[in-house]
Formats: sequence, C-alpha cells, structure tokens
Amino acid sequence: MAVEKYADEIRFCASCAKMCRHVCTSGTITKSETATPYGRCLLAYYIVNGVLEPSGEILDVLYQCTTCGLCQANCLLDYDIPGVVEALRAELVEKGLANEDAARLAENAEKEHNPYGEPHSQRFSKLRAAKNENPEVVYFVGCTSAYRNPEIAEAVLNILERAGVGYTVLDDEWCCGSPILRAGYRRQARELMKHNQEMINSLNAKTIVTPCAGCYKTLKQDYPEQGFPLKAEVLHASEFIQKLIDEKKIKFDKKIKKVVTYHDPCHLGRHSEIYDAPRRLLKQIPGVELVEMEFNRENAHCCGSGGGMEATYPEVAEQAGRRRVEEAKETGAKILATCCPFCKKQLLKAGKDEIEVYDVAELIAQCL
Ligand code: SF4
Ligand code: SF4
Repeated sequence: MAVEKYADEIRFCASCAKMCRHVCTSGTITKSETATPYGRCLLAYYIVNGVLEPSGEILDVLYQCTTCGLCQANCLLDYDIPGVVEALRAELVEKGLANEDAARLAENAEKEHNPYGEPHSQRFSKLRAAKNENPEVVYFVGCTSAYRNPEIAEAVLNILERAGVGYTVLDDEWCCGSPILRAGYRRQARELMKHNQEMINSLNAKTIVTPCAGCYKTLKQDYPEQGFPLKAEVLHASEFIQKLIDEKKIKFDKKIKKVVTYHDPCHLGRHSEIYDAPRRLLKQIPGVELVEMEFNRENAHCCGSGGGMEATYPEVAEQAGRRRVEEAKETGAKILATCCPFCKKQLLKAGKDEIEVYDVAELIAQCL
C-alpha cells in the first residue's frame, strides 16, 4: 500500500473535471479547494515528485479527510482517494511527521489497546460478556461499543442469547486497528491485528460477528490484505441478525410504531457494499415505516466521524454530523437509525435533542 501504487490517481486527477469537489465531506464544510479529493491528489503529486516538502498545513489537509469514499463514488474513473490519503499519511508518519491528535490515538492503542486511552482492564466492565472455549461465533465487540456505546454491545449480546447462539468474546480483545491504520500508523496497527488474529484463529469458530462498521471493514478486508487472514467468516451484526430471523431463531413480539430513516455508515456502505441488510431488518420490525434521506446508499453523506477526524478535527466532524441530522429531520422521521457505534456517537452529539438516534441492533433487541 505504498503511495506509488496510486501513481495513476495522483497523475490523472490533475486533468479531470473534478466533480468530486462538490461532494467531498471536508471540502464542502471547510470551503477550501485544497481540502478536496483533487487538492489532496495534487499535494500527493507534488510530494511524490519532490516539488513540495511536507508541512503542518499539508498534514492538516490530509487529516481533514474522513476517508468516507464519497469522492470515489462520484469519480468517473472510480479512483481510490481514501487509499491515496491513507498511503500518504503512512509515508509521512514513517518520516516522523505526525498530526498530534492522530499520534495520540496510536500511542493510546499501543499502551491500552484502544484509541481512547481508556484502561484496557476495563474493556468489558460495562458488558455481561460470556466466555466460551468452543464457540460457534466470536463476538468482536470493538473499542467504541465497549467504551462509548455499551448499549449497542449489550443489544447484540441480548439478541445472541435470545437466539441461543454459542458465542464468546475474546479473552483479551484489542482494538481491531482501524482508527490507527486509517491515520497512517501501520506498524502499530499490524501489532493489534496480529494479536487479534492469533486469538480468533485459535478458537476455530465458524463466524465472527461485530456491530461496528469500522471493525467489520478492517477484519474483513484489511486483515487479509495486511497478512493476517482470519479462518472464520466475518459478518456485520446486521447480516448475522438477518440470518437468525431467517432461521426462525428470533421473532418479533413488540412493535415500534414510528417513522425511521437509515444512515449508511461509510465503512459498511460504500467500503463494503452492505446497503440492504440493515434496511431489510428495519422493514421487518412491526410498525416501522422506513423512509429514505435524499442522500442514501452510495451517495450517503458521511457523519464526520471516520478516518480519525472526530479526534483530529472535531469541529469539522461536528458540522458533518449536523448536516446529516438536518437531512434526517427533513424526511419527517422520528428515529435516525444506523449500524455503527462511531456514527451513532457522532449523530447523537449533533442532534440528540432533535431526533432519536439508535443502532439497528438496539431497535431489534427492543422488539424481541
Ligand atoms: S478523484 Fe476522480 S473526479 Fe476527483 S479529481 Fe480525481 S479523477 Fe477527478
Ligand atoms: S474520502 Fe471523503 S473526505 Fe476524503 S477526500 Fe474523499 S470525499 Fe473528501
């Protein structure tokens, strides 16, 4: 994943019509031409060709990208701009150039095995986490569900238990590596991946289930790409819950008579192409009327939380969250549902007094 791999993107972006500028999460908020996909590729071109020396300002522009992939969805050439940004961040980190807040995430992950710097010993202190030596399913909770949104972790756990699934949490779960991998800290991310890979593969489970879009994308795509393949199939909780419904292991006993709209997490939607599973779940909840926001599926606007931006540029992240809440309110929905603890956290911060925000797993668990 060295930056050379992206030579075409870096060269050809310069002569394109640049429609991606008009959708870029950070560019449309900062109103800066440099903080757009094209601007970032131009900086990469200058850095790779020795025209520009990396500076603090360049780091700002690079770390204001949420790696949401909205640019790629709007690029005629389908260029992987989040890949360019991640590769360039990694090169700069290797040269010792660090964004202070991103560096803190990596230090926290090394020391406490989570990007928040919370005590590792407290990882599952808010969860009734069962351990089982011969599990059918490994329940990979993730740092954000463990420390910040334990209600999501608990909802998935309730569903697994209600369905009688033989699951376990890991004896010693570490951060999946996603936030620091996106921030350019590859060596540190690989250490986390290696640890989790060894723990997961030693269990011989058939399936790994996670409620987090970031963990899902990382376990499913980055682990094998970085040389840490997992033996079990990785499923997002929304996919696994649907399987439980199809197998008649859970059924709905209660209703939610409300209009609901759904926010696609970037790492579950654009990066993993899972658009239907969460919508299908919502439509099956008795009483729910699902309505779409104007920007949905591959065109969904980012909540602002991705790529470490919530930690590095919280004010930009907050504006992205605000925009998404406004879009949700325009549909007339009473509930804004999503499928990722990062998104839930960001959307709640932006609009908790204006709209109810839930993870889809929480809504399902409420109705069993
Ligand atoms: S990312 Fe795609 S649309 Fe944007 S400037 Fe580059 S080539 Fe053009
Ligand atoms: S990934 Fe998102 S924030 Fe980054 S350049 Fe593309 S559209 Fe902008």
